[in-house]
Amino acid sequence: MVKRSTIFFSMALLPTLSLAVPKTKREYDVARQHLLDANRARSFDANTTLTPLEQEVDAHLVSMRNAYIRQSKADGSYAPEKYFHTWNLTDIRSEPTFQFLDGLPKGANLHTHSGSTGSVDWLLTEGLAMEGCYVYWPDKEDPESKILTGTIAFFKEDSVPEGYFRASALVSQDGFTQELRRYITSTKDIADMDSTGAWKVFDGVFVRIGPAMAHRPFYFNYLLNTFDVHFANGLNHLETRALLGAQGLGDLTDLDGNRWSGRDVILTYQEAFEAWKSSSPSHANFTFKVIVSNSRSAPPRKHMEDLDVAMALRKEFPDFVVGFDSVSEEDPHHRTLDYVEAFLNANEKMQESGLTLPFFLHDGESQDRNNTNMIDAVLLDCPRIGHGFNDAFYFPAVRDELKTKGTVLEINPISNQVLRYVGSLESHPGASLAFDGVNIVIANDDPGVFGYTGLSYDWWAVTMAWYLDLRSLKTLAKNSLLFSALNPTEKAASIEQWEQEWNAYIANFAEKATAIIV
Ligand SMILES: [Zn+2]
Repeated sequence: MVKRSTIFFSMALLPTLSLAVPKTKREYDVARQHLLDANRARSFDANTTLTPLEQEVDAHLVSMRNAYIRQSKADGSYAPEKYFHTWNLTDIRSEPTFQFLDGLPKGANLHTHSGSTGSVDWLLTEGLAMEGCYVYWPDKEDPESKILTGTIAFFKEDSVPEGYFRASALVSQDGFTQELRRYITSTKDIADMDSTGAWKVFDGVFVRIGPAMAHRPFYFNYLLNTFDVHFANGLNHLETRALLGAQGLGDLTDLDGNRWSGRDVILTYQEAFEAWKSSSPSHANFTFKVIVSNSRSAPPRKHMEDLDVAMALRKEFPDFVVGFDSVSEEDPHHRTLDYVEAFLNANEKMQESGLTLPFFLHDGESQDRNNTNMIDAVLLDCPRIGHGFNDAFYFPAVRDELKTKGTVLEINPISNQVLRYVGSLESHPGASLAFDGVNIVIANDDPGVFGYTGLSYDWWAVTMAWYLDLRSLKTLAKNSLLFSALNPTEKAASIEQWEQEWNAYIANFAEKATAIIV
């Protein structure tokens, strides 16, 4: 039995309620609306306004969105709460909200990786058809082999290692392409794994496609495809993390034994981009930048060398090499803190020379409270952070800093789910951060590995899971350009171009919607 005095003591410790309890239903409704408004006022999209025409389109969007949510929750097919590789993508592609988002001018993709941002369909067709392409496809699995079945590489005819077969011959075999696709993309088998297991599968994909991505002629064409798929998806700008550093990291080669390192790799990116731009007048306004990256498996001393490479490239290509990042799985690899001296050293060097190299670090891609990388990302003044979601649970002071500094989080919803950090996208921590006023952009990380292209699926997923409206989408699109690493002149031009395309799309949609109603 609880003593009366104990109850009285406990109640005395309760904080004073800031809102008086409303006495009537009318008072209650006013107070309730007040709290809803206060909540909305903190959101990342609070300052965006809609024109009357946009409000009209918003009403259609909300109606389409709610129809999907209502119906799919009723029949059990609601996708955002399920594992991505179980989604019925054919059904989703024909869903009206998806179709609206697919054509919508979405601004920029600010977080993606060079070897996984093009189309896997291109890789399995045109890529495999390229001269000198072989796939490791032994008749019998050899447990001793260090080469993974499904590894794609390029050789001269007289120097093909055992176990490799010409890709153009293999593709004519029944079931080969489907089987190879399973080796170089993630699948629903990962659904039952934890993040460690998911990363193992993921890393296996990069080991298999790595040799092909290092073959310059193949990679050149892969880049052309990368620009194609982004442009076709209503995007104006792309920033890609590209592995590039000391000791041959990111080098490209060809069948004649030529080698491209450092600046020559950057020149390859530029050459591919210029070739793509000049292939159609409609490509004229698309922009592309590179964020030089190394791997978190690098020891701190190598990290300094990689930073030196990145700074030299930034100096030579100031409008093309726009930042630096350290990528790969965070938890088992080096903490950002392990690299802090190298970063501070780089800052000192840059202060002396007047150079700037923004750090766009992958940090906080974790569910682990011991992963304090977000603390370092904030102290190192990253303008944008890759993922950065574990501060939603564990580091409220970091969250405050993000808001004060205006730091942007690059949220990759489907990637986070595929790699088992998040279950239902309804409870993705990005929602908690965005609705509390942290700036976010939506990106796709490694769509090539996940088996899709473009941003439509990620945009669709958060539109459904977070009940986003046109105000949110307009903010996400505009912010992706505003928070890009474009220089001020390019940024102004890009935003103006996007505004024109956005307004035309909205007007066109409104006209069609009116015609259907009439
Ligand atoms: Zn990433």
